[in-house]
Amino acid sequence: MSIPSFPSRLPQVGTTIFTTMSALAVEHGAVNLGQGFPDFGCDPALVDAVTHAMQAGHNQYPPMAGVRALREVVSGKTQALYGHHYDVDAEVTITAGATQAILTAILACVHPGDEVIVLDPCYDSYLPNIALAGGVAVHVPLTPHSFRPDIARIAAAITPRTRLLIINSPHNPSASVWSGEDMRALEAVLAPTNVLLLSDEVYEHMVYDGAPHQSAARFAGLAERAFVVSSFGKTLHVTGWKIASVCAPAPLTAEFRKVHQFNVFSVNTPMQHGIAQYMMSPASYEGLAGFYQAKRDLFRAGLADSRLKLLPSSGSFFQCVDISQVSDLPDTEFCQWLTREIKVAAIPLSAFYADGFDQRVVRFCYAKQDDTLREALQRLRGL
Ligand code: PMP
Ligand code: GLN
Repeated sequence: MSIPSFPSRLPQVGTTIFTTMSALAVEHGAVNLGQGFPDFGCDPALVDAVTHAMQAGHNQYPPMAGVRALREVVSGKTQALYGHHYDVDAEVTITAGATQAILTAILACVHPGDEVIVLDPCYDSYLPNIALAGGVAVHVPLTPHSFRPDIARIAAAITPRTRLLIINSPHNPSASVWSGEDMRALEAVLAPTNVLLLSDEVYEHMVYDGAPHQSAARFAGLAERAFVVSSFGKTLHVTGWKIASVCAPAPLTAEFRKVHQFNVFSVNTPMQHGIAQYMMSPASYEGLAGFYQAKRDLFRAGLADSRLKLLPSSGSFFQCVDISQVSDLPDTEFCQWLTREIKVAAIPLSAFYADGFDQRVVRFCYAKQDDTLREALQRLRGL
């Protein structure tokens, strides 16, 4: 028997940096501040709500678009926070994590040869997703060091072939956030175009120092062309449940669902019922920014006297540091060394650049118990 060979659809792609670094952390008994996930549990009341949903018999296929009660929660929350109404039936869809939402949105609108603008550094799934759709990624860098959007460069990258622009605020990996002025400037740039927007807002409830989250839903000229993606995994500390939402105007949602229904068809039922019941109370997400801001402050205070230079962390649960005073190693090798020798895992920023650009910066995740952070700080302090 011989196994037929075929050309790879994704010849450049290997195992993700998150999986690789988590495996290395386990192998070396390192504190894992690499892959972004909490090391603490969710609210037991959420587990109770899901358990109750299973016991109540919510165990068969839900509606393709998602359990209505959960879509109502998403629509109501978006209206309350960002002042935009999404129709529960025609404009809100529940997905198997933001990962599936992003792939589905891209497959739904990007035709072979279409250009998709991505802002570097960007989350690792965007480029393979664009490649699977046959799209052409057009790279526009975020401003070096500040990681702020350069709206003039985005405008300059738009051509008649541009189908989609992908933005992400709060930003993974840099922890920067877009301001209202940034969003308004983008709105003005996109107004005369046909360009669609994919706004990855999985960290929407993690914006610090009193700043509001500037959702694309707040800006009429952006909302009318946008798929707005959020993730319950991030908001509720349940990354393993793989459940998220997409809000988009009805014509965009209709195309999205054409792909979604033949991709996963629908998403697990009891989690949807449980989350819907749990999130009826705004308390389920209102305290999140304060909770993570305290962890950010603890982590930053612990590194303040080290030679790891702290970059701003205005949102998300990431903290980037410049390693140039500590090591001459390329960032990827530095992260491997740090995991093996110092026993703290981190993610190199070069993993978020198509060309592997190394600016001597690595990313830590502070979504950890305070004791975990203190243990990591103890180990990092000597650097
Ligand atoms: N987008 C960004 C920016 C992310 O950081 C992540 C996960 N960390 C995702 C999308 C995927 O989210 P999910 O786990 O809901 O698939
Ligand atoms: N998004 C998470 C991170 O940035 C990891 C998700 C994954 O492992 N694919 O760390």
